[in-house]
Amino acid sequence: GQSPSRVNEQLARKAAQHPCYSVSGHHRFARMHLAVAPACNLQCNYCNRKYDCSNESRPGVVSELLLPGQAVAKARQVAAAIPQLSVVGIAGPGDPLANIGRTFQTLELLRQQLPDLKLCLSTNGLMLPDVVDRLVDIGVDHVTVTMNALDPAVAEKIYAWLWYEGERYTGRMAADLLIERQAEGIRKLIEKGVLVKINSVLIPGINDQHMQAVSQQAGEWGAFLHNIMPLISRPEHGTVFGLNGQAEPDADMVASVRKSCGMSMPQMTHCHQCRADAIGMLGEDRNAAFPLASVPVNP
Ligand code: SF4
Ligand code: SF4
Repeated sequence: GQSPSRVNEQLARKAAQHPCYSVSGHHRFARMHLAVAPACNLQCNYCNRKYDCSNESRPGVVSELLLPGQAVAKARQVAAAIPQLSVVGIAGPGDPLANIGRTFQTLELLRQQLPDLKLCLSTNGLMLPDVVDRLVDIGVDHVTVTMNALDPAVAEKIYAWLWYEGERYTGRMAADLLIERQAEGIRKLIEKGVLVKINSVLIPGINDQHMQAVSQQAGEWGAFLHNIMPLISRPEHGTVFGLNGQAEPDADMVASVRKSCGMSMPQMTHCHQCRADAIGMLGEDRNAAFPLASVPVNP
């Protein structure tokens, strides 16, 4: 085996080239999200299926959905136009691992056609344990898992239901299963040297008091970064939380939760809650410059 300091060096090098994993990298490197994953296998109470998944992205905007061949053609076009492009990720608009065929076809084509780009994936984690080896084989070395709770009593207030192996689960059963699968997936990825970022949606009165426990556990597992994102819940989005009048956290709450979690885990403060089809440096979206019509479709 390798010495721990050698492993840490390798991880640090990987992180430095991903704009989301490194504060210094976010001015120098660009990322691109490919929206190839429409379906989801669970229902978060903050999600409205008409919009993008909050695994990574800002709810309230709809991505242009691409087939794997189109997505990779677009990635090649963007790589040619934006030399700072270092990362291509799949983040929605649903859950990438609820769309296994499309997601892996896209990753494999990217690996063949754009071998220098880093590959990244965001997921709710439900199907993660089953695909860790496949992800590692393809060379996906950044994975983001959205983990909003460790305690099933908290999680059951956040998730309405999920589908797993042909069965629908609700309530405590769904919460237990999701947390167990997320934990298993995260541990396996970290064991294999994959950089894992944990995303959590901060929901006042639901998981704000619990966030420190999530951060602490993430740190103990060896996750690289914790990204606490404020809930977006406007009634007009039609989410369960929005319709029930669930408050969004104010800036003070976000700052104080990040501060207390910062004792356990490095915190991400430069996340832009990008769209599932965002292109460019963080904080910028050049997707409109690459309209679908200009992308050659190879089946
Ligand atoms: Fe929506 Fe994403 Fe949650 Fe699925 S995982 S319900 S797409 S927010
Ligand atoms: Fe990075 Fe946040 Fe954008 Fe994801 S949503 S690409 S973590 S800045």
